Amino acid sequence: MSTEAFDAVDVIRTKRDRGRLSDAQIDWTIDAYTRGGIADEQMAALNMAILLNGMDRAEISRWTAAMIASGERMDFSSLRTPDGGVKPTTDKHSTGGVGDKITLPLAPLVAVFGVAVPQLSGRGLGHTGGTLDKLEAIPGWRADLSNAEMLDQLQDVGAVICAAGSGLAPADKKLYALRDVTGTVEAIPLIASSIMSKKIAEGTGALVLDVKVGSGAFMKDEASARELAETMVALGTDAGVRTVALLTNMRTPLGLTAGNAIEVEESVEVLAGGGPADVVELTVRLAEEMLAAAGVHDADPAAALRDGRAMDVWNRMISAQGGDPHAALPVARESEVVYAQADGILTELDALQVGVAAWRLGAGRARKEDPVQAGAGVRMHAKPGDPVRRGQPLLTLLTDTPERFERAQEALEGAAVIAPEGARPDQRLVIDRIAE
Ligand code: URA
Repeated sequence: MSTEAFDAVDVIRTKRDRGRLSDAQIDWTIDAYTRGGIADEQMAALNMAILLNGMDRAEISRWTAAMIASGERMDFSSLRTPDGGVKPTTDKHSTGGVGDKITLPLAPLVAVFGVAVPQLSGRGLGHTGGTLDKLEAIPGWRADLSNAEMLDQLQDVGAVICAAGSGLAPADKKLYALRDVTGTVEAIPLIASSIMSKKIAEGTGALVLDVKVGSGAFMKDEASARELAETMVALGTDAGVRTVALLTNMRTPLGLTAGNAIEVEESVEVLAGGGPADVVELTVRLAEEMLAAAGVHDADPAAALRDGRAMDVWNRMISAQGGDPHAALPVARESEVVYAQADGILTELDALQVGVAAWRLGAGRARKEDPVQAGAGVRMHAKPGDPVRRGQPLLTLLTDTPERFERAQEALEGAAVIAPEGARPDQRLVIDRIAE
């Protein structure tokens, strides 16, 4: 006779029939699934019922809390300001996009103002890049830190970007792998609880969510991105984390590079006070939001990019993790140029297609264990809104393995749209701000 508190089939039936799951049912479900007491096929059926019938705010909060309770919670309360107070912590999470290197300049920029930035990041899968893959292009840089090393670096340097340890929300790891192969990734309650369980377990005091909208994003339309953002803001707020979200445009890649080493290079340009306008604008806007959420209201992040303070923190942050911030970055061995087909205004440069091309060139991976090429990717020579002339270079494709060019070119078919002079593409970067 089973000693389990509930029967998985009853839990599935409750959600299948549009009922509410009780707190006790949710706690048991997450715990039992993590320890092997619920079979994958049962959890898959429950996930599908959640995808179809949803969960209310209290259910999602409880589901998230149960995922957090499946693992360890980090504690940054030992961090101190120079006058002995508790150092505030603030973090950013992006739902992922193409050319999204913002974490690289943002973490050191925010740390300039005395706030600790514990940025636990991941590797890329599919067409969206991973922050750790980008930083690993820097010779010597190391993503894996112990909790003690992370705390020391947060105290001394103020910013750390490193791999999340396996102890944070282990239930999520198992659930995400199952969702990935059962068509249930897209359920908003499950996405929101997956992201927020890891962020809340990480122990940050404040959190800014960059929720991407458009072809290169997880959420292709504004309504679903808004619903995801509102759900995550509610979860953070319920857990005592000051949380705000920005909805930002991912119809076109951010900046002029999509890859690994080339995105580090562009981030360093931003830290040196230059770089593409959209990357600078989003970095500064997110820094302002992160600092405000951490209680710092009189900061001028744009000035800290111009005067080198953010670059100083970047150099110390990279060195602290074994990297040489002044070393030459890897360069791809081969390149191929894509030319503009007409005169006019570039109105679209599709983020998903550029992301898939960069991935096929070797910048991303198809399976978790695949290596990435540090030098591979796509350099863009024009952004939507720019005038272009027929025959001018639009993109440069970069790889060490030239047999990849053909499939990358196929991915880019129709990615660039050139309209007659006078056309005005949608160039909004920040679409909305969502807070409680
Ligand atoms: N990222 C996550 O961490 N979880 C999801 O469910 C989707 C994106």
